[in-house]
Amino acid sequence: MKFCSECGEKVGLKVPEGDHLPRFVCGDCDTIHYQNPKVVAGAVLEYEGKILMCKRAIEPRYGFWTVPAGFMENKETVMQAAARETYEEALAVPEKIELYGVYNLAHVNQVYIMFQGKLAKPEFGPGPESLDVKLVEEQDMPWEDMAFKVVTMTLQRYFTDRKHGDFRAFTDDVVVK
Ligand SMILES: [Zn+2]
Repeated sequence: MKFCSECGEKVGLKVPEGDHLPRFVCGDCDTIHYQNPKVVAGAVLEYEGKILMCKRAIEPRYGFWTVPAGFMENKETVMQAAARETYEEALAVPEKIELYGVYNLAHVNQVYIMFQGKLAKPEFGPGPESLDVKLVEEQDMPWEDMAFKVVTMTLQRYFTDRKHGDFRAFTDDVVVK
C-alpha cells in the first residue's frame, strides 16, 4: 500500500500505539489501514455420485481444475457466497449445502470455507470464469491438474468421508513450502 484511500496522501508502516504489528498509517489524516485475511467460499457438489468440477478460464492457474469457489463479497453470508460462486462459475444451483471444511492458508492470508452438498438438477455449464464444467467420477478426477492444493485436500477428504458416510465439519491447515 502506498497511498491513503481516505485522503490520497502517502502512507508509512508503523506500529500504532497500543498495537503490536506494523500497519499502514496515513502521514496526513492518521487513518490506520488494517489488512486482514480474505475469505474464500466454495462447495463440493455431487450429482448421482459425480462431483461438479470447473476448468479455470482465469489466472491464476488458467486451465486447471477446481470446485466452485471464490472470494466473498461484502453483505453476503458464506453460504450465499458458495452458492453464488457455483452459479457464476458453473451455472449450477446447489440444492442443499452444509459446512464441511475450514482451511487456513496462512501463507497467502486466506481462509477457505468449504461446503458440501448436492446439485439441485444436472444443469450446468461454463460461466465466464470457466473453460469447461463437468460432473466427474472419483476415478476420473484430474489429480495432476488441480488448480490449488486446498482443492486437492478437500476432494481427497471428501472421498474418504463419503466411504464412511460421515461428513462432519473439520478444520485443517494448507502448508505450502
Ligand atoms: Zn489519509
